[in-house]
Amino acid sequence: MKKVTIILPAYNEEASMDRLRECMDSVVRDNPAYEWEFLLVNDGSTDNTLQQMIRLHNEDPHYSYVDLSRNYGKEIAMMAGFDYATGDGVIIMDADMQHPVDVIPEMLRWWEEGYDDVYATRKNSGETWFKRKTSQWYYGLLQSFTNIPIQRDTGDFRLLDRSCVDALRRMREVERNTKGMYSWIGFHKKGITYEQQQRQQGKSKWSLMALVNLALNGFTSYTTAPLRMASVMGLIVSLVAFIYLIYIIIVTNVYGEPVQGYPTIMVTMLFLGGVQLLSLGIIGEYLGRVFNEVKGRPGYFINSYNGTREHVN
Ligand code: UDP
Ligand code: MG
Repeated sequence: MKKVTIILPAYNEEASMDRLRECMDSVVRDNPAYEWEFLLVNDGSTDNTLQQMIRLHNEDPHYSYVDLSRNYGKEIAMMAGFDYATGDGVIIMDADMQHPVDVIPEMLRWWEEGYDDVYATRKNSGETWFKRKTSQWYYGLLQSFTNIPIQRDTGDFRLLDRSCVDALRRMREVERNTKGMYSWIGFHKKGITYEQQQRQQGKSKWSLMALVNLALNGFTSYTTAPLRMASVMGLIVSLVAFIYLIYIIIVTNVYGEPVQGYPTIMVTMLFLGGVQLLSLGIIGEYLGRVFNEVKGRPGYFINSYNGTREHVN
């Protein structure tokens, strides 16, 4: 019998735990052809999430838990999930149960057909015009910068074959954009759609700033094209400046016209200053990533895996 691990990263989700259990019970009930493991990853919750996980683990052998040493963020929590998952396949779901369990049979079906990465795409219902448009522009822009096909409106809700999990486990970067990594590793992909559920308990952990960070991260981890853009911009500006220089020399020497000083200098200086700051900022973005990677630290530490402190890797 094939074993499937459901990875459930959770940060302050004590209110969702009862519902989570109901959903997982129904997964076991509806898919008896598989052996199930539910791997709860406690991402440094400050409420009783951990206690609830320990209770689940003690009451039901399907549940395992990893308790991270602090809050690392969902990306790292998933990294820990990949490390500790023991299944032949892995499904990643949000612990707040916004991802419906009833698409799991369909995922399993495609997996049996030979697909390695069955990803679930949100049906865009009930989202505001603004949110829809910004996400559309963002994906469009991102895609134009890279050759790797990007799956739109797709999050982490997906089934991964062991081969994908092993591939992802070899990518130990700590500045993670897992979405980009799924695309990068390739393998046979199949998209299905699902209706995103309303969050029932607790509240979303994404602030506006966090979303902006995520968007920037998406760019800098997918592609180094902005760096190239900075060079091209520099080249164009220099070229224009050079042509302008020739023009001024001709105008003053041949026609004897006095050059308008202040406005021209101001405009050029401000423009160049802006371009330089922008380019520096772009370089800084990448430098920051290099800085964090080059330290070579492990992505996370754990307090406990099912009550022991052993580390698997
Ligand atoms: N999460 C996490 N660590 C964090 C923030 C969130 O493990 O630092 C988990 C959270 O418990 C949930 C999932 O990641 O299971 C998605 O988070 P959330 O529901 O806040 O995001 P949204 O659904 O609004 O995208
Ligand atoms: Mg959520």
